[in-house]
Amino acid sequence: MTVIDSQSRVNATLTPEPLAAPVASSANLTRNSRAERARMPVALHVAEDVAIQHGVCIRPITQRVTDTYTGEVTLVDVPCGATLDSKCPPCAQRAKRLRMHQCRAGWHANTDPIPDADPPNDPQRDLVQVRADVTAVRDEFLDLGDVDSAEAAAETLDALDAELVDLGVRGRLEPDRTGERRTRSTKRRQDAPNLPKKTMAKTTLGQTFTGNGGTVYRPSMFVTVTLPSYGRVDRTTGVPVHPDRYDYQGAARDAIHFSRLLDRLVQNLRRVAGYDVQYFATIEPQRRLAPHAHFAIRGVIPRHLLRQVIAATYHQVWWPATDEPVYAGEHLPVWDEDAVDLDSGGYLDPVTGSYLPTWDEALNDLDDLAQLYADTGNRDEIRPQHVVRFGAQADIKGLISGTPDADRRIGYLAKYLTKDIAHCHQDTDGDLTVAGHTDRLVEALRYEPCSPTCTNWLRYGIQPKNARAGMTPGACKAKAHKREHLGYGGRRVLVSRKWSGKTLADHRHERRAFVLALLGIDPTTESATAGDKTSDRYVWEPINPNEAPPLATRLLHAITKRQTWRAAYESARNGTGPPAANSPLTLHPPKPAPATEGHETS
Ligand SMILES: [Zn+2]
Ligand SMILES: [Zn+2]
Repeated sequence: MTVIDSQSRVNATLTPEPLAAPVASSANLTRNSRAERARMPVALHVAEDVAIQHGVCIRPITQRVTDTYTGEVTLVDVPCGATLDSKCPPCAQRAKRLRMHQCRAGWHANTDPIPDADPPNDPQRDLVQVRADVTAVRDEFLDLGDVDSAEAAAETLDALDAELVDLGVRGRLEPDRTGERRTRSTKRRQDAPNLPKKTMAKTTLGQTFTGNGGTVYRPSMFVTVTLPSYGRVDRTTGVPVHPDRYDYQGAARDAIHFSRLLDRLVQNLRRVAGYDVQYFATIEPQRRLAPHAHFAIRGVIPRHLLRQVIAATYHQVWWPATDEPVYAGEHLPVWDEDAVDLDSGGYLDPVTGSYLPTWDEALNDLDDLAQLYADTGNRDEIRPQHVVRFGAQADIKGLISGTPDADRRIGYLAKYLTKDIAHCHQDTDGDLTVAGHTDRLVEALRYEPCSPTCTNWLRYGIQPKNARAGMTPGACKAKAHKREHLGYGGRRVLVSRKWSGKTLADHRHERRAFVLALLGIDPTTESATAGDKTSDRYVWEPINPNEAPPLATRLLHAITKRQTWRAAYESARNGTGPPAANSPLTLHPPKPAPATEGHETS
C-alpha cells in the first residue's frame, strides 16, 4: 500500500523532514574542520545501525510540545511511522507486528464485534482540520496551475483520508466533484454473476461444529487468489520462458484493476455465504510479478461454492478503447492557454485546433453507443476496455483457531508487508533476467491508463478527467506506473469493518494500555499523558527541521531512553516489580495517527 508508504509522505508534507545528516548548528561549524565534518555522516550511520538494533526509529520527526498549564516547551521526537523497511526498519517491523495482532484479533472471534458509533473525538476533529488546510493548499495550487504541487497535495489528501478511515471515520469528506451519479447503460453491464443467492444472516460469524468429545470447533479459512497466466514462466525465477510471447499488456491491465476485482470477490462472497463475511487480506506479488491476495476469512464457506464464486467473479472496465494510440511521439495534443471554459477542458488537436473530447464526453459517447447496441439487440458488440478475472489457481485451506497452522498463516499473511511490490522477492535482486522481466512490465505499464485522471488518456485522444496544463502521455505520476508498485497502486492490507470491531489506532492504544499497566503507571497520571496527543493540555506543533538538534544526537538520546524503558519493561514482566515512582521513565509518545493501508471494501 503503501505506497505505499503514505505515512512518510504525510509527515514529509505536514511536518518537515528531519535533516538527513547532522549539519549544523553555528557552534559546530566553527569548531570542526572540514575533514571532521566530512566524517560525520559515518557517525550517523553507526547511530542508525545501533538504533535499528534497539528498535528505535531512525527518522524521528521533532515536534514542539507546549504544556498549556505551565507554559513549558519541550521538543519531542515522534517515530516516523513508516511501513516499509527501506524507509525505517524499526517502524516497519512495529507496523507489521501491529498488523499481525489485528489479524489474530479478528480471525477466530466467537462473538460479533460491534463497532461503536462514537461521536467524533479529538484526533478525528484535528485530522479533519488538517485535511481542510491541505485541501485549501491543493486548490490554491490548482488555481496557480502548479500541477505537480497540486498532485503532491492530492496524494497527501489520499493519505489523510486513509488515516481518517483508520481513526474510524466512515464515508468520504470530499465527494467526487465531477462524478455525478448517473446510471450508465455500460454500468448495467456489470451484472452480478449467476450464483446461488442466500439470505444474509445478521452475523459475522461462521458455523461451528461439535466434535466427538463435545468440543465445539469454530473453523476459519485461508484463501489465496491469483491472476491468470500470461505465458509460461520459469518456476524458480518467475521470468517468462518466451518473453516475446508473454502477455505484458494483459498483465499490466490486470494489475491496475486488481483491487476492483478483489472488491467484487468480497461482494459476491457475501451474496452466497449466508452471513456477513469478514476478512483480513494482504496483497503481494508472485515471482512472476503479478499481484495475488491472501485472505484470512472468519467462518467457513463450502469449498465448492468458494471455487464457483472465484471462477464467476470478474470486473469489466468501462473505459474508452485504448487499442490504437491517436497521439504519439512529437504529435501530441496541445494545451490551450486561453481556455476559460473549464467544462470543455483545454487540450486541442495540434493540427485541426479542435478540442479533444473530455473524460465525461467520452463516457457519454460510450454510453450512447451501448444504448444503441442494446436497442438494436447487439448487446455484445460493445466491449469493455478490459475485463479482469482470477486465474484457475486458488488455494483454499480450512483452519481451526489456536492451531500452529493458523498461527503460521498469520506470519505468512504479514510476511511481505515491509517490502514494496518490486522488492518482495529479495533473493532475485541482481538477477538480470528478473530485472529484464521487470523492465518489460514497467514499459507495458507506461502508456496504460491507470485511472480517469491518468495523463495517458491524451495518447488515445481523450482529455483526462480534471485535465490541466502540462500533462504528457507516458509521464503519469500515479503509483501504478512506478517500478515499486508494478501496476498495483492499491492498499496492501484490506480489513473489513467488523473484523475485530477496532481500528488499527484502537489496537495500538490497547497495546499501550497493556504496557502502562505492566509498568504500574496509572494512565491518567502526568507521565502517562505527557506523550498523549489527544490530551487537551498539550499542544503539538511541527517545527522547522533547522531548529531540531542533529539527527545523530537525537538517535543516541532515543537509544538511551529505549534501554531504560526496556529494562523497566523486562523487570516488570519478570515480576521484579514496577519501576520506582520517580523513575526518569518516559514512554514514546504515540506517533501521529499513521496512514495505514487498512480499508473497508464493503
Ligand atoms: Zn521510523
Ligand atoms: Zn496513470
